Amino acid sequence: MSEFASLVEGYKRFRSEAYVQQKARYDSLASDGQSPPVMIISCCDSRVDPATVFDTIPGQVFALRNVANLVPPYETGGGLHGVSAAIEFGVLGLKVRHIVVLGHAQCGGITASLSGSNLGPEARDFVNKWVGIIETAKEAVLASNTPDPQHALELETVKVSLANLRTFPFIAEREKTGMLELHGAYFGIAEGQLHVLDEVTGSFDPQ
Ligand SMILES: [Zn+2]
Repeated sequence: MSEFASLVEGYKRFRSEAYVQQKARYDSLASDGQSPPVMIISCCDSRVDPATVFDTIPGQVFALRNVANLVPPYETGGGLHGVSAAIEFGVLGLKVRHIVVLGHAQCGGITASLSGSNLGPEARDFVNKWVGIIETAKEAVLASNTPDPQHALELETVKVSLANLRTFPFIAEREKTGMLELHGAYFGIAEGQLHVLDEVTGSFDPQ
């Protein structure tokens, strides 16, 4: 069976099982629209699907995935701001009450930041430019002489994305008034372990 055919097979299982079990929920989501309370910003990595890790139900999470779960700083000039558009839609349109930045172990985007994307002659440096968002954090991690810069930068990246979220005026304002809460988390693939960031201590605590 081809990889795509196995997806269609998966859809058929979903359609005859999970969809049937949740039909009432899908019906109300279709007629009333979505109103997810949570936005999750996570990596494209195939091992870190937020719907799987958090065992969510349809309509619960507005998900944004990109290389290395990065949020660029707020800026309106030039370029096509796909990440900022999703954040604007999630916060101002859907009025999510929580944003979770989910980092993870063995992140290829973090490896690219540390040692270059190494994608061959056809690559146009999209990845290298994208991970430039964490250039300052990378330099700080390397200067600290930590024995595991990959892990250190994976954790630091979650903090950078949270800091960059707070450069969006509508996020800073809503966080101040308690309408919106920001959270950092990290998924360890080998252990299947979720860690949640304590922003007071800066530590990621296993759950
Ligand atoms: Zn990743």
